Amino acid sequence: MMGMVSIVGAGPGDPELLTIKALKRIETADVILYDRLVNEEILLHAGPRTLLVYCGKKPGFHAMSQQEINAALVSYALAGRNVVRLKGGDPFVFGRGGEEALELAAYGIPYEIVPGITSAIGAAASAGIPLTHRGYAASFACVTGTRCHGEQSRVRWDLLAHSVDTLVIYMGVSELGFIREQLLKFGKDASTPVALVEQGTTKKERTFTGTLADIHKLAVAVQLQNPALIIIGEVVNIQEQLASLERPPVAQIG
Ligand code: SAH
Repeated sequence: MMGMVSIVGAGPGDPELLTIKALKRIETADVILYDRLVNEEILLHAGPRTLLVYCGKKPGFHAMSQQEINAALVSYALAGRNVVRLKGGDPFVFGRGGEEALELAAYGIPYEIVPGITSAIGAAASAGIPLTHRGYAASFACVTGTRCHGEQSRVRWDLLAHSVDTLVIYMGVSELGFIREQLLKFGKDASTPVALVEQGTTKKERTFTGTLADIHKLAVAVQLQNPALIIIGEVVNIQEQLASLERPPVAQIG
């Protein structure tokens, strides 16, 4: 009998941000193919006989190519295994989940998508930056900072500079200088606040704030590392306002 593949979002880092559905799939999987951004604590929920396959992708170094990952998903499913394809954040947000789903569909293999909290949502919440806020931001966009191996950027920075209030940029650490230059060139104000959130929602989270004018220097000064998100917009200022207000301690549940 043919197996089934669940393409599952593991959330942004904090293992408690896993959904109940994701947890159930992990607990009952025969095989889990997981990415680099998946917190390894989450894998402790797998059964003792579950085969764990690392498919990690570091910028510039791939343990398995996308083609090899697709082929592995297909072959485990054809062999009758219950497969979980576990990805950081949400599988359909810069996660190549769509490509894997298309491959499975082409082979007639049953699959499902289990959404996860994408890192933009997780990291913004954890850093105290609301992505929308009445009076400051009525829209936000999630954008990739990579330029696809030196090809011309397909991201319309000229339009994004003016049409969206809050920009959240994934995979932008190495392109921060370019992104800043583009937004300034297309008229974004140099005083626009910017936050950098590294390892958002994890115990190692670091957040830095500056402005579009100086953000590239700040990133170098603090040695910003992947994974990190760049949040650009007036809402970044709310973080300071929140931090300056005392709040009662959160009650511990359970
Ligand atoms: N599917 C994932 C995104 C994968 S692309 C999701 O929905 O979140 C990889 C990029 O995600 C990284 O380069 C970084 O920009 C961002 N990212 C993932 N986890 C992060 C985290 N914990 N903190 C900050 N950025 C993160």
